[in-house]
Amino acid sequence: MIKLAIVSPCYNEEAVLLQSTTRLTSLIEELIDKKKIAQNSFILYVNDGSKDNTWSLISQLHQTNKYVKGISLGQNSGHQNAIMAGMMTAKDLADAIITIDCDLQDDLTAIERMIDAYAEGYDVVYGVKKSRQADPLLKRLTAVAFYKLQKQMGVKTIIYNHADFRFISRRALEQLSLYQERNLYLRGIIPLLGFPSATVDDVISERTAGVSKYTLKKMLGLALDGITSFSVKPIHAIIYLSITFIAISLLIAIYVIYSLISGLAEHGWASIMLSIWFVGGIILLSIGVVGIYVGKIYTEVKRRPRYNIEKILSDDQNI
Ligand code: UDP
Ligand code: MG
Repeated sequence: MIKLAIVSPCYNEEAVLLQSTTRLTSLIEELIDKKKIAQNSFILYVNDGSKDNTWSLISQLHQTNKYVKGISLGQNSGHQNAIMAGMMTAKDLADAIITIDCDLQDDLTAIERMIDAYAEGYDVVYGVKKSRQADPLLKRLTAVAFYKLQKQMGVKTIIYNHADFRFISRRALEQLSLYQERNLYLRGIIPLLGFPSATVDDVISERTAGVSKYTLKKMLGLALDGITSFSVKPIHAIIYLSITFIAISLLIAIYVIYSLISGLAEHGWASIMLSIWFVGGIILLSIGVVGIYVGKIYTEVKRRPRYNIEKILSDDQNI
């Protein structure tokens, strides 16, 4: 039986924390009764520098509820960092973790299916949103546009309609801990690990209390990380722009020669026309070349592991 940790980030969530804890507690007890998880499984709340009573509530819950553990971050570090902090803390305490937002908008019944998938040999199980009816229209539309943009920008690993509701085994967490980058976008990194993965349906419901903590600024920041942390395509695009400029300058050169021969051109016009496009193209080309090197430096400084070993065939335990 696996010891499960349910990791949940909380930022100013005093309105929803008590009812979420009640629901998670009865779920844990049900799964213990069904012998799907060990009795010492637990909930790990990550207080992400809340300014309300969230942390004192977590502390009280820890006193009264044997399943509740908590960590508190010194300042608001954002959803992704809060999840990472929780996962890295739980990694050494449990066999597997599930991350879920503490407003419990995700489908709690999916958790049992995630554990079943783990028993079948999957290290990572993604909750995939089946119905987004509870999400505001604008959020639904921007989400679809964003997935498309990511794809076009060459971010290959994204799981469509999956947010951060997922199951991860300890060995996958160990591997994840080797990804030391600061601009975290977990939805992109975790599929990169390459461990066997499955998906389960996740029917989203409405927030029962409190308001969304994902401000527009935080959402845009996440979207930007979702592209720039996984793709150097935007910086390489400068090269294509420069090729377009130089091609236009060649067309203009033909037009200029024609104008000179037919006597249509004003004095000095030809050299100005040509140099604007040609010099512009050369400048862009130079920036593009610098961009290629910057892209390489960017990839290097992230110091991601070059490979993840998933299986080993050997009789030697110390390999
Ligand atoms: N959250 C966090 N730090 C932040 C913002 C949000 O830990 O800076 C948590 C929040 O408490 C919640 C989860 O991230 O558990 C998702 O936020 P929310 O439910 O407000 O986002 P939405 O569902 O509206 O996208
Ligand atoms: Mg929410």
